[in-house]
Amino acid sequence: MSEKKTRVRFAPSPTGPLHMGGVRTALYNYLFAKSKGGDFILRIEDTDQKRYVKGAEEYIVEALEWCGLKFDEGPHVGGNYGPYRQSERKTMYREYAEQLVKDGFAYYAFDTPEELEDMRERLKAAKVAVPQYNAVTRSTMKNSLTLSEDEVTRRLESGEPYVIRIKVPRKEEIRVQDIIRGWVVVHSSKVDDKVLFKADGMPTYHLANVVDDYLMEITHVIRGEEWLPSTPIHVLLYQYLGWEDSMPQFAHLPLLLRPDGNGKLSKRDGDRLGFPVFPLDWTDPQSGEQSSGYRERGYFAPAFINMLSFLGWNPGTTEELFSLQELTDTFTLERVGKAGAKFDLEKAHWYNQHYLRSKSNSELASLLTPLLKASGVEADLEYVAQVCHLMKERATFIPDMLEGTYFFNPPENYDQKMLAKKWKENTPAMIEGFRDILSSLDDFSSENIDALFKSYLQDNDLSMGQLMPILRILIAGVTSGPSIIDVISVIGKEEALKRIKIGLEKIPALTIA
Ligand code: GLU
Repeated sequence: MSEKKTRVRFAPSPTGPLHMGGVRTALYNYLFAKSKGGDFILRIEDTDQKRYVKGAEEYIVEALEWCGLKFDEGPHVGGNYGPYRQSERKTMYREYAEQLVKDGFAYYAFDTPEELEDMRERLKAAKVAVPQYNAVTRSTMKNSLTLSEDEVTRRLESGEPYVIRIKVPRKEEIRVQDIIRGWVVVHSSKVDDKVLFKADGMPTYHLANVVDDYLMEITHVIRGEEWLPSTPIHVLLYQYLGWEDSMPQFAHLPLLLRPDGNGKLSKRDGDRLGFPVFPLDWTDPQSGEQSSGYRERGYFAPAFINMLSFLGWNPGTTEELFSLQELTDTFTLERVGKAGAKFDLEKAHWYNQHYLRSKSNSELASLLTPLLKASGVEADLEYVAQVCHLMKERATFIPDMLEGTYFFNPPENYDQKMLAKKWKENTPAMIEGFRDILSSLDDFSSENIDALFKSYLQDNDLSMGQLMPILRILIAGVTSGPSIIDVISVIGKEEALKRIKIGLEKIPALTIA
């Protein structure tokens, strides 16, 4: 017998920007599908029109494209199982809900919002902890199980609003095997008679989700832990619709936690925790509130993906650096843990740093050049590449390399603290002497400058600490940065000699004042 082709779906609701936990869900779906040679499908679950947010679907597609997760099917790429937006599949769901009613697994319920509220109040007064419409309470409500057949027909024909609810058995164990969690057993008395079909003619998440997974021949449902409580309903639906043999396998992913482990990382965290929770920048179309994204913060997509892959999964080795292809080759659901995964900002930085350092100098130069231009600096690519070579070891993000402004402009200010400490009476003479021999050096390589500098120190009985910090201040103005010998080599002879000369003219005045 030939194995069924693996088909997984990422099924977000377009109710806002995609959270990084959502990106991780999409990533694990992608990795699983691709590791099995299967299909990765995007399905937009937009049955709840009240929660629909303009631009959210486009955002989801753009974010996952940025991450390099390519869909085989979806509203934006088509496919044989479309449409891929539930709002466009609207007419497909009613027949399944009606079928369930006919077979005795669901029923019409006519209760008004007031009657539902009364029921809840009544149960609360009777000290019921979680008031629910369920196997016990349904007998006290207005539905096709309590009303006469004639009355039901009359109500339906007169167009009275109704919903269709699933009839959850009173005492039964509902068992689900989860790839990550093993057997999950829920007693049906804990499960309420969920609405499957709403008065507005739209299915709810539960019905649409199961019907679509079935019709789209989904083999594995990989989703966040928050959907685990819904799974018993889904299992009952597969049973009641006679689709048990096609039921997908389930895998519920662990939660993404805040760095302190205190609670789940949520969309509402926005930028409050000092890092983005969204892949891309997002402006809420209604409130105008802005939230930042990893892309705009300067993260590289492969670094973001690599970092996310480890929030809940590990390869079982000490290896931490994986390209998307390497992740695909290594990923298994069996190595996804049950425990919540804490987000770690330092680790995120570490990954970005690594990906930055592994880029060639010319690639970095082409990324830095637009930022330089924006700050009014014009420099040729080859020169910028030399700067990147020196700056990349100290940078986590591309803009960090802009810190070396002294590569492009002479210093405007000189670090006063350092001067106060190091500038002595004989300093100008020491520097003059070095400037003189530097001016006769032709090959301005770092090695040559370094050798010259050291022999000058030796010949004049000077220590590194007497001259090096001063030289740095004259050339760069600041005390931090890459080796000043390397900086001198990059800015070149003419510029270096000019800066030393100007510094020597300006600094004595500064230090006296
Ligand atoms: N529409 C659900 C969501 O927004 C999908 C859950 C599932 O994958 O079944 O996450």
